[in-house]
Amino acid sequence: MPHSSLSLKERIQAAYQKRIPQFHEAWTKFPAWKKSHSKANTVAQFIEENPVISEMVELEAWAEPERFTKQARDARRRRMLAMLDETRAPLEVVPVMLAPFSKPGAPIKVETRELAITAVEAKQTDPNFSWQKFANQHCRCGKSKHDINCKERIRQAAMELQALLKRLNLEV
Ligand SMILES: [Zn+2]
Repeated sequence: MPHSSLSLKERIQAAYQKRIPQFHEAWTKFPAWKKSHSKANTVAQFIEENPVISEMVELEAWAEPERFTKQARDARRRRMLAMLDETRAPLEVVPVMLAPFSKPGAPIKVETRELAITAVEAKQTDPNFSWQKFANQHCRCGKSKHDINCKERIRQAAMELQALLKRLNLEV
C-alpha cells in the first residue's frame, strides 16, 4: 500500500477520522446484538467483537494528544458522552466507554506522544538512529542533561505506538 507523502501524524489522524463513522455504525448494531446474546450481554464482549470501537479510542490518543492533558479530560469526556448520545448508544454502554477517562492524568503525556511519533518516523530514515541521541536532542523535560529516564519514556511510548500501528496495518 503506498503511503503517499503524508506524515505519520497525518496518517494516524486519517485512520482515526475514518473510524469515527464506523464507531457510530457499530453501536447501532448493539441493541439487536444484545437481543441475540440474552445471557452474555456484556458491553465488553460487544466491544471485543467490534474492534473499531477500541481502535478509535486508542487512535484518538495519538491523533489528538492535546485532548489528553488533565485540563482537557473533562472536555473529552463531554465529547464522548455527546458522541454516544448522537449514536444513540444504550445507557449501559456509557460507564464502560467512560472508564478510561476516569484514570488520573494521561497514561502517556502529550509531549511524549508527539516525540514518540517523531521518533518512529526518524527511526525509519536514520540508519544510525539512537534513542539516547534522540532524547538528548528532543526531550523537553527541563533537565540540563537528558538521562536514561528521558530515553525510556520516549522509547516505551514509541513501542506502544508501533504495536498499535502494526495491529492496525498502519506500519511505516
Ligand atoms: Zn529529558
